[in-house]
Amino acid sequence: MTATAAPAAEKSTYRPLELFDTDRLLDQDERDIAATVRQFVETRLKPNVEGWFESATLPRELAKEFGDLGVLGMHLQGYGCAGTNAVSYGLACMELEAGDSGFRSFVSVQGSLSMFSIYRFGSEEQKNEWLPRLATGEAIGCFGLTEPDFGSNPAGMRTRARRDGSDWVLNGTKMWITNGNLADVATVWAQTDEGIRGFLVPTDTPGFTANAIHRKLSLRASVTSELVLDNVRLPASAQLPLAQGLSGPLSCLNEARFGIVFGALGAARDSLESAIAYTHSREVFDKPLASYQLTQEKLANMTVELGKGMLLAIHLGRIKDADGVRPEQISLGKLNNVREALAIARECRTLLGGSGITLEYSPLRHANNLESVLTYEGTSEMHLLAIGKALTGQAAFR
Ligand SMILES: Cc1cc2nc3c(=O)[nH]c(=O)nc-3n(C[C@H](O)[C@H](O)[C@H](O)COP(=O)(O)OP(=O)(O)OC[C@H]3O[C@@H](n4cnc5c(N)ncnc54)[C@H](O)[C@@H]3O)c2cc1C
Repeated sequence: MTATAAPAAEKSTYRPLELFDTDRLLDQDERDIAATVRQFVETRLKPNVEGWFESATLPRELAKEFGDLGVLGMHLQGYGCAGTNAVSYGLACMELEAGDSGFRSFVSVQGSLSMFSIYRFGSEEQKNEWLPRLATGEAIGCFGLTEPDFGSNPAGMRTRARRDGSDWVLNGTKMWITNGNLADVATVWAQTDEGIRGFLVPTDTPGFTANAIHRKLSLRASVTSELVLDNVRLPASAQLPLAQGLSGPLSCLNEARFGIVFGALGAARDSLESAIAYTHSREVFDKPLASYQLTQEKLANMTVELGKGMLLAIHLGRIKDADGVRPEQISLGKLNNVREALAIARECRTLLGGSGITLEYSPLRHANNLESVLTYEGTSEMHLLAIGKALTGQAAFR
């Protein structure tokens, strides 16, 4: 008689993403990067986030800590950047956003908007001047595209750059600019006689002012600003030489949107894990909340959406690493994953009852943050229209 191995004991409880076994789709380097960022979020960020959210601050010294962690411009090659693949960058965004969307926003703007605009469109001198310092967090960057009257339709921007001899003179106002008051350099997009062009504006240039936007109900652990350019005079060397037209800023936005496809799932995962833990400890009608069918239906439905979002994110990341992901594919990911993450965070809040409205639990903080994430980097409506255009060939934006 031959002995047969006993069947592996069935696991009684899983974390939501363990059910999907998505870790199998990652290589060891990718898992290590995710674990390193998660550890930093658990030990350095999570213990402080409630205070930062409540006081509406993001300490400047975090920039250097993010630099030491290696996440600033991590998907770029050279100039002190880590040169990881897109999936690793996405996983880092996910872990950061499990802490708070404000942390991921800082890293997205620094790496995918400020640094990427210089990396893709800058001269060698501009790259050498800014990228190494931005990668370590010694310098902070911001990205000024949106204006008070032009958000979804940036082509209408009124900020203008005119030539004066060999100099450029910039006038205009930018609105809702992440990191605006922290930044040492702003990538500013402006109309010129030759169309839209990008400029690197050191924030100590006379005529440049950043005004912090207060009383936000969302993304409170993040700095958001209005930028005013009043006859800001720049040398010719401040122009990004390779950026021509709106495709310049839009290609930077695609980079940042990719990070959001993963990032939003971090907020959803953290909300769900927090809610599951609560349903075990909370007793209602003499039994744990976790034991009720209505609770389990909510948890199961949320887990299904979280896992589907993760599969989509990894799929888009693999496409991006193989031969490039198309903007309309990024729209699919951003639309779905932010929409579902917001629905998950709200549903988790219901499971927490009254406790869910305090800062002690993360889901409502995540939901409030995700309201901004739903709007920035292209509103959900703009991404619906982008997908609609891809399907029908008809642009319905106007
Ligand atoms: C916290 C935060 C941080 C941000 N950070 C940055 C940053 O760092 N840099 C930057 O440049 N910008 C930034 N933004 C700006 C953001 O990208 C814009 O808010 C966004 O593009 C929407 O623009 P808007 O606010 O002007 O809204 P609007 O464009 O006025 O849109 C209002 C509503 O109208 C809808 N809408 C617009 N056009 C159409 C249409 N054709 N058909 C149907 N519906 C339509 C929109 O979907 C939305 O629901 C940030 C915003 C926030 C909230």
